[in-house]
Amino acid sequence: MSLDIVDTGQTKPEDSLTVLGVRVDRLTQRETLEGIDRLVALRRESEEPIECQQVITVNTEFIIEAQHNQPFRQCINEAAMVVPDGMGVVWATRYLGKPAPERVTGTDTLPEVARLCARRGYRLYLLGAAPGVAESAAERLGVLAPGLQIAGTYAGSPAPEEEEAICECVRIAQADVLCVAYGAPAQELWIARNRSRLSVAVAMGVGGAYDFLSGRKPRAPKLMQNMGLEWLYRLYREPWRIWRMLAIPRFMILVLLKGRKTA
Ligand code: UDP
Repeated sequence: MSLDIVDTGQTKPEDSLTVLGVRVDRLTQRETLEGIDRLVALRRESEEPIECQQVITVNTEFIIEAQHNQPFRQCINEAAMVVPDGMGVVWATRYLGKPAPERVTGTDTLPEVARLCARRGYRLYLLGAAPGVAESAAERLGVLAPGLQIAGTYAGSPAPEEEEAICECVRIAQADVLCVAYGAPAQELWIARNRSRLSVAVAMGVGGAYDFLSGRKPRAPKLMQNMGLEWLYRLYREPWRIWRMLAIPRFMILVLLKGRKTA
């Protein structure tokens, strides 16, 4: 089954909407995990090879980037599941009259993916981040998800010349689920480029999740997360993000001006 999108049973057209030309599926974290479970089970049971399926967690920066980056937009719109990471996207879904039930962030979903893998005997591979960080994140996930089988960890890089060797490592490791931390849009484009040669059932970009899990970077206090202010904490810790975060007001203005016409 080449380059096909496998039906996860989670995303029906009426459960999705388009925000500035970018698809967003109105899924809860639990439904996302059920979809991942279904994809891995399907691939394990299938006699024919099923192509790796991509899960994308979109935030406002993704949607702004996708306005001028056509391959990125296409990769999001063709993914198996596209979930709203970030309050800005959740706000837009409400404004456009098809509210997403909740935020589904890569950082919060990764430990749940690890628990799912531990429960079902799926093997998880952590690719990306600075050398040593994926290993520390794997250790932490082992504590959060006892019995988890880590198929492998590798920093690597998103450089095209490394792709073939990385895909081979993932294949030899017999991983079922691959998480990629190269930052957006590099990680999503890396997965989309390599889907046909990746031997895993599911791959998802997780941004800075290993940095948080390993303790290399502190995450915003829970209260700020719940108030939708995680971006403000990240800005306080990493002021250089101001340039990337200008996407937030730009996104809101574009949604208010054009959102209903392009939804
Ligand atoms: N990263 C990497 N190689 C690269 C670029 C980024 O391994 O060429 C890693 C980086 O070390 C970090 C992650 O990708 O662990 C991206 O983190 P960031 O906080 O920028 O992602 P965000 O959550 O903002 O998308």
